[in-house]
Amino acid sequence: MASTAAVRVEGVSKRYGDRLAVDAVSLEIHRGEFFGLLGPNGAGKSTLVEIMEGLRRADSGAVALLGRSPWPRDTTLLPRIGVQTQSSAFFVRQTAHEHLRTVAALYGASRAAVDATLESVGLTGQRGVRVEDLSGGQRQRLAIASALVHDPELIFLDEPTAALDPQARRALWEVLRGLKAAGRTIVYTTHHLDEAEELCDRIAILVDGRIAVTDSPHHLVSASRAPSRLLLPAGRLDEATAAGIAGVERVSVQGGSLVLETHAVGPVLTAVDRLAGLDGVQTRTAGLEDVYLDLTAEATTHDATTTEP
Ligand code: ADP
Repeated sequence: MASTAAVRVEGVSKRYGDRLAVDAVSLEIHRGEFFGLLGPNGAGKSTLVEIMEGLRRADSGAVALLGRSPWPRDTTLLPRIGVQTQSSAFFVRQTAHEHLRTVAALYGASRAAVDATLESVGLTGQRGVRVEDLSGGQRQRLAIASALVHDPELIFLDEPTAALDPQARRALWEVLRGLKAAGRTIVYTTHHLDEAEELCDRIAILVDGRIAVTDSPHHLVSASRAPSRLLLPAGRLDEATAAGIAGVERVSVQGGSLVLETHAVGPVLTAVDRLAGLDGVQTRTAGLEDVYLDLTAEATTHDATTTEP
């Protein structure tokens, strides 16, 4: 049966000693989809992605990429997938351009593609710089370029913006949007919730090796029961008065603001206006970060450092 899925994962598990890193995960990523994989440190994202890429073998379950099994190594699949290399796999004595040309040659990609890809990740100015002399962010962009140079159909990027400054991050978003517009499938792990919200068609949140939820960021946020927050400049209203407003569920002081949590923004704003005026008052509706924190709050991962506010 022909598969329309770019990635199909069925009941995949992986154990390291006592630790079940990936626990019977099933998911399907459609062709042309921008798919985010999120979760606290230790949740099993890297293990799952490496199994998808064919770099690691699952203990049980099945994986298909573009309808074919990535394990054992399938050489017809390699030119069709792009994997962000780890910097340890770099040819450090080569220049950025030579490195990318070497990678391109492995896949039969053209020299024109090398120049265009360097340009797209903003490394044209560093083409003659040795890999070992590039900054962390520049190396990261070279790793991304190495995944893209042969114009693969399916691209795996593992925290690609981790070492990038805000400008480079935005520039990469544009590159990724271009790839998505050109019909490529992108599997993306990130700790940046704003990024997932901006870029991904769907995300899966992995907690303790299991998928807690898979949906579009928009659906996740609109289905969330997380309250909106009103931020009042300090001293505008005392806490007791704020807590007495009908519809206010919780009051706290955070970063010099009085924070009112509510599911009834309109009536609470009206009451605040009457009591203290709305000058300088900010409203924050629940976002993907609230949904994420809610879902991962009870994660029992040993090294989960990103789950608590
Ligand atoms: P994430 O990418 O979400 O941080 P990982 O897949 O790296 O999660 O790790 C999942 C769990 O498996 C963690 O508890 C981690 O310590 C463990 N683990 C990962 N790789 C290995 C390995 N090669 N040997 C032993 N344990 C590992």
